[in-house]
Amino acid sequence: MKTLVLGGGVVGVTTAYFLAKAGHEVTILEEKDGLGLEASSGNAGIIAPGHSFAWASPRAPRMLWDSLRGGETAIRLRLGSDVHLYTWGLRFLRECTADRARRNTLIKLRLCQYSQSVMNDLVRAEQIEYHAITRGALYLYREKLGVAVRLGTRVTALRGYADRIDAALTSDGEMRADNYVLALGVGAPSVARTVGVSLPVYPAKGYSSTFPLKPGGRAPLVPGVDEKWLVGWSRLGDRLRLTSTAEFAGYDWGWTPRDFNNILKLARDLFPDAADYDRGEYRACLRPMTPDGPPILGLGRHRNLFLNAGHGHMGWTMACGTARIVADLMTGRMPALDLEGLTFRR
Ligand SMILES: Cc1cc2nc3c(=O)[nH]c(=O)nc-3n(C[C@H](O)[C@H](O)[C@H](O)COP(=O)(O)OP(=O)(O)OC[C@H]3O[C@@H](n4cnc5c(N)ncnc54)[C@H](O)[C@@H]3O)c2cc1C
Repeated sequence: MKTLVLGGGVVGVTTAYFLAKAGHEVTILEEKDGLGLEASSGNAGIIAPGHSFAWASPRAPRMLWDSLRGGETAIRLRLGSDVHLYTWGLRFLRECTADRARRNTLIKLRLCQYSQSVMNDLVRAEQIEYHAITRGALYLYREKLGVAVRLGTRVTALRGYADRIDAALTSDGEMRADNYVLALGVGAPSVARTVGVSLPVYPAKGYSSTFPLKPGGRAPLVPGVDEKWLVGWSRLGDRLRLTSTAEFAGYDWGWTPRDFNNILKLARDLFPDAADYDRGEYRACLRPMTPDGPPILGLGRHRNLFLNAGHGHMGWTMACGTARIVADLMTGRMPALDLEGLTFRR
């Protein structure tokens, strides 16, 4: 069975791993010149089901409103001309009741707990060193399972024929397979639209900074999140990673030094001598968010197009579990988790 996995972030790579293990002949198509260079590399690196709180909560509308009036808030909105911001935004606001926030949090929590157990098995089976997981997890399938990777290959569209996908149209020409997995992060909606599938995934921009640890400094040993400012931190080997903010501003990867004020203030308050804060590396990256929070898994409108997108602020925590679920669906096995709240039609 030939399968094209579209997207080489943590979601695409873990899906490729489980499919290759199940005997599929897998090729990953990735537009960048390396794997995992987008959201998957800029994140806080926290694998913790306890952070499953739905962002669409009763306090979110007030934060968005304050941000429009110039306030410093953890969740921000920048109005623009992108119509998808408004359609997605209305769906997000509908999820902001206490009942829906509770329901969505529990769906995410269940998925994250399942994913953590799948990840523990994978880490044990492949003997991945934990703090080096980006390297280990992203490359193990190539060496051991023979997955092909085509870097620098941009997917521009899918071509549908009746209820099947017939080809992926790419910057390297047309590519055909029996099955296709859509794991393009924030790039998923525009490709899905080419075959009439409307995926409610929108970018939530986050800011990511990395500082070298100071020898002998007191750096945190466990990761954490400040829920007021959405600042997350974790130690990545000899570096300290801090991330913050959810900004709904479209497909904009830009940043200014001011965007890192929250992070630097919190880091200097909590861990004053942990790292060299004058030698930071900074970037912005885009979380693929659904309005309600859980990702979208499994079939949409086509019998051979499988969705694995919209992991939002918890993609590393969810990736192994969602990859396993999608691979199970594609190989005719019953997923170990009930899919309520996780499918395209929910
Ligand atoms: C600031 C920040 C902090 C975070 N902190 C955490 C955390 O602590 N814990 C956690 O679990 N999660 C965290 N996350 C979330 C996590 O990083 C994401 O959910 C996850 O990386 C999403 O993975 P993905 O593979 O879906 O997307 P991506 O990593 O973005 O991968 C998608 C890939 O598809 C490629 N692509 C897109 N369009 C095309 C196209 N047309 N053709 C070919 N290739 C294409 C991209 O280049 C990219 O490599 C954080 C995210 C951010 C931004």
